[in-house]
Amino acid sequence: MRLIIAGGGLAGLVAALRAVELGAQVNLLEKGGHLGGSFLYSSGYVWSYRDLEAYRRQAPAGDTVLQKLILNRLEEGLLWLEDRGAPVLSRETNNPLTFGFRLDPDRTVAALAKRIFVGGGRISLGTALDGLVQDVDGRVSGMQASAKAGRWTEASDAVVLASGGFAGDPELVRRYIIGGPGRMRLRAHPRSTGDGFRAALAAGALESAGLEEFYGRNLPAPPAEFSPERFVEVSQLYGRNAVAINSNGERYADESADWSETTLTRATALQPGLRAWYVLDAAGLQKRVRERTVGEMVATARRVGGIVLQEESLEEMADRLAERGVVRENFLRTMNEYNAAVVDGRSESLFPRRSAPAAPVRTPPFVAVEIAPTITHTIGGLAVDGGCRVLRRSDGRPLLGLYAAGVEVGGVSVGGYSSGLATALVFGRAAAASAVREDAAAATD
Ligand SMILES: Cc1cc2nc3c(=O)[nH]c(=O)nc-3n(C[C@H](O)[C@H](O)[C@H](O)COP(=O)(O)OP(=O)(O)OC[C@H]3O[C@@H](n4cnc5c(N)ncnc54)[C@H](O)[C@@H]3O)c2cc1C
Repeated sequence: MRLIIAGGGLAGLVAALRAVELGAQVNLLEKGGHLGGSFLYSSGYVWSYRDLEAYRRQAPAGDTVLQKLILNRLEEGLLWLEDRGAPVLSRETNNPLTFGFRLDPDRTVAALAKRIFVGGGRISLGTALDGLVQDVDGRVSGMQASAKAGRWTEASDAVVLASGGFAGDPELVRRYIIGGPGRMRLRAHPRSTGDGFRAALAAGALESAGLEEFYGRNLPAPPAEFSPERFVEVSQLYGRNAVAINSNGERYADESADWSETTLTRATALQPGLRAWYVLDAAGLQKRVRERTVGEMVATARRVGGIVLQEESLEEMADRLAERGVVRENFLRTMNEYNAAVVDGRSESLFPRRSAPAAPVRTPPFVAVEIAPTITHTIGGLAVDGGCRVLRRSDGRPLLGLYAAGVEVGGVSVGGYSSGLATALVFGRAAAASAVREDAAAATD
């Protein structure tokens, strides 16, 4: 069978190698000049929650069928990758809620690409899918591609979309996620601009739940500048040790709602100007988050040109913040109410509530770091079944010949967050296997 795979991130690479191994003639298209997608900038942890109960708790509105698929197939996928030459840096995730491996991204990409090539697969760099071709019955029978050389149509028996969602398209991000004016910085490679998503919708595909959700991090706000290689290092992952306030001087989210601070980052994207401040004190700076102290993360924000204010009292901090547009009286009232509630053990009754950990902010020096939300990838995307077959909008049944993998698959972690690399690995393998199996079944019908 002839299989086209659009996108050379981890999802596309895995789908391509699996399909080559199952005997398909593969053409892997990659829009950019190199393979790897966001995997290259990532920490390389490919993980799942330990059991379905934990998965449901952490991503309560996600698709249970897809969550089970990840849970049940991740280990087998990791061993398959290791057997294909992916270097395993650790067999632990350092998170008691999860299991998985840490991989070396660069060497994993190189190992997969080599095997695809040796197995007879084609890899077309600088080539983008920009439309799907359907036969009279609506079955996907090829795609339109574009490259420097021009635009052409290529026939195939099936197409796997692995082009990474639409985080890189400011217009789609505004429409679905921000819901108004503003632009979120990307914390990912810039090429996932919704090409696969749009092409599938134009072919009659169904959207998943969670289109308004995203995974990302709060990073130092501009004028801070940093290269993609520093995305992990500049993360300001200590909202739970701070009070997050917007330019109205008000708290806007439960800073400790979840371990990955996804809820806090999403809420920051809805604040005026898509900016906010983390306010903390000397005690907060001493706290540890994973392998770093909060003070070290704040120092990184300062080093990359972020705005970091330091004062000896909350009144002086209020003056400094007011110079930057934060409403002074509201800020002082918010801090006083917060501190009083925490000291009295009433933080859960604050609005927004503050779950544990919650510590008072009262030991000088006080620090305020200006942060801005960034988007790593979308959570909503295409609706698929347990075989990664893209579903039709008209009747919820499979849109024949079309499959999705990785970020392109929507709805897995709605209401929370789960590993993007796991969706790339598990769904990449599942999409390739379904496409090859169904083509063989069609041939014997
Ligand atoms: C700093 C950082 C740290 C991270 N850490 C982790 C972590 O530790 N664990 C974890 O699970 N996840 C992590 N992630 C997220 C993870 O990297 C992604 O979820 C995952 O790499 C997505 O893989 P993908 O193949 O689905 O999409 P992508 O990596 O986005 O790949 C999509 C590919 O498709 C290409 N493309 C786009 N449009 C087209 C088109 N029209 N035609 C052809 N090709 C196209 C793109 O150029 C790209 O190469 C991290 C991400 C970042 C940025």
